[in-house]
Amino acid sequence: MNENITKRNELLAQTVIKGLKSRNMSGYYAASKEEAKQIALSLIPEGSSVTMGGGMSVHEIGLVDAIKEGNYNFIDRDAYEDKRAAMLAAYDADVFLSSSNAISQDGILVNIDGNANRVSAIAQGPRKVVMIVGMNKVCDDWDGAMKRARNVAAPINTQRFGLSTPCSKTGACMDCKSPDTICCQFLITRFSRHAGRIHVILVNDDLGF
Ligand code: SF4
Repeated sequence: MNENITKRNELLAQTVIKGLKSRNMSGYYAASKEEAKQIALSLIPEGSSVTMGGGMSVHEIGLVDAIKEGNYNFIDRDAYEDKRAAMLAAYDADVFLSSSNAISQDGILVNIDGNANRVSAIAQGPRKVVMIVGMNKVCDDWDGAMKRARNVAAPINTQRFGLSTPCSKTGACMDCKSPDTICCQFLITRFSRHAGRIHVILVNDDLGF
């Protein structure tokens, strides 16, 4: 990462961390993917049950492999034939790993979902949520974060999953009601009632979409 970009990310991250703190959430800055992984592991006690709901960024820093190889009980939803059982196991997990589709400079998290397994687990259920968020996802404000989620993250994800939505053809949100839409649920996390539950690790890198 270019050193001027790094300096800017370091400074901007402090603003976001302050915003998160004002919302009863914890923020951290990682200068590299490796540092992000180490911070995440320091937040996850050995023996914890850990699960996730998608999240390229979590894979990109090597956290999923570290959890699978370490002394943790990884709940792999893909290994469940019964998807409802997988969902209920995820709700009861000690730790839920995720990224965020976007985050505002003042610490508001924006996430969209089709099946809602990810956004519902961020909202409640797992005892702790650890988010890995590249600095490319920091937006000026809440409105900018929503626009990013709908015009950047969603079109890329619909392409990735081969879904037939307007945005997978145009690259921008057309506010569709397509049966394939992934914009069924919007989660705006503006405050956490439970201190110590939501941890956001901001990474000096471009991660995810
Ligand atoms: S509402 Fe439809 S067109 Fe807009 S981002 Fe979501 S899936 Fe794409």
